[in-house]
Amino acid sequence: MNHKWMSQLPLLLAVIVSGSANAAIKIQDWGKGPEAEQAKLITLESSSLRVQLTNYGARIVSVEAPDKTGKRADVVLGHANLQQYIDDPKDYFGAIVGRYGNRIAKGTFSIDGQTYHVPPNNNGNALHGGPDGFSRKMWSVITGTDSAEFTLISPDGDMGFPGMLAVHVRYSLHGNRLDIEYSAQTTKTTVVNLTNHAYFNLAGEASGDVLQQRLRLDANRYTPVGDTLIPEGNLPEVAGTPFDFRKLTAIGERIGADDTQLKRAGGYDHNWVLNGRLGLLHEAAFAEERVSGRTLIVLTTEPGVQFYSGNFLNGSVTGYSGLAYQQHAGFCLETQHFPDSPNHPSFPSTLLKPGETFRSHTALIFGVSNGAR
Ligand code: BGC
Repeated sequence: MNHKWMSQLPLLLAVIVSGSANAAIKIQDWGKGPEAEQAKLITLESSSLRVQLTNYGARIVSVEAPDKTGKRADVVLGHANLQQYIDDPKDYFGAIVGRYGNRIAKGTFSIDGQTYHVPPNNNGNALHGGPDGFSRKMWSVITGTDSAEFTLISPDGDMGFPGMLAVHVRYSLHGNRLDIEYSAQTTKTTVVNLTNHAYFNLAGEASGDVLQQRLRLDANRYTPVGDTLIPEGNLPEVAGTPFDFRKLTAIGERIGADDTQLKRAGGYDHNWVLNGRLGLLHEAAFAEERVSGRTLIVLTTEPGVQFYSGNFLNGSVTGYSGLAYQQHAGFCLETQHFPDSPNHPSFPSTLLKPGETFRSHTALIFGVSNGAR
């Protein structure tokens, strides 16, 4: 039984179990949010994965995946209970981040000559939608036999963003594949950039650092950043730099290189410019951990991916198994539009107008390999 819901047994007010040949779903009450809103813990189970989600931040709480011998481990970082998620505003474990995932310089941008301000929450910049972004909201949820769809109505002016935004995020589980589909509509022209902020550790949550885990990114270019991690605007080639992940490479192999970009971020915390065609689901990343044999494929319709190597984890936060998460305890692959796009007209646009529908799709495929790939 999973520790996360064992610790919440007294709070279980309702358990609904339904199922189909391929997947089963269970919905439990999971305590109350800051404004007494009801949190839910939703468990999706297929023949190969067990995924837990909560409507607090529309987030992934756990993903139990088998290793090459069939032994399961939770391969995402997370907290033991709702209160610990509420008390942790800076790590975004498994959360949907928005209205604008990643950074907006000084929290300031203009649309049609009007300037908007999002309260800065990270070195003078707005990160992941500002201090009260989507990761800190209690979303509503409806469930199907193998899916959960979360909805949030972000009011006009929420965190300074124009327009009321209706956002839907649907997770669905089929075999070893978890799909995340996003859509949004606005009442005024606004900016939107949504992603999931899961931290992966393919050896298992709290198993140590991920520096030996190997990664491939389908990207020839990346967006270098200045001192506060805002893109400088150029898109240099990764060739010949520690940012070249076109071949499967251990995350730790070059992380300590004498490189200004790595030093600025304390490791990898950059956006890669994906080679695939914008809007078409394509493979962005592949990761593997050789001892367990676990692998992860990330497919996306997005033009970029923020590969963050957990640089700012420092042991101050405890994961659900009671162990502190040290630096590099997990890695994030945040499929997204580029950071600070509202201030870079040359980047793919993040504008959404009334009457349009924002759509984005990312899929996570958890497998095992014999090391041949
Ligand atoms: C950012 C990091 C940040 C992390 C957690 C990532 O998306 O790029 O700089 O520390 O989120 O807050």
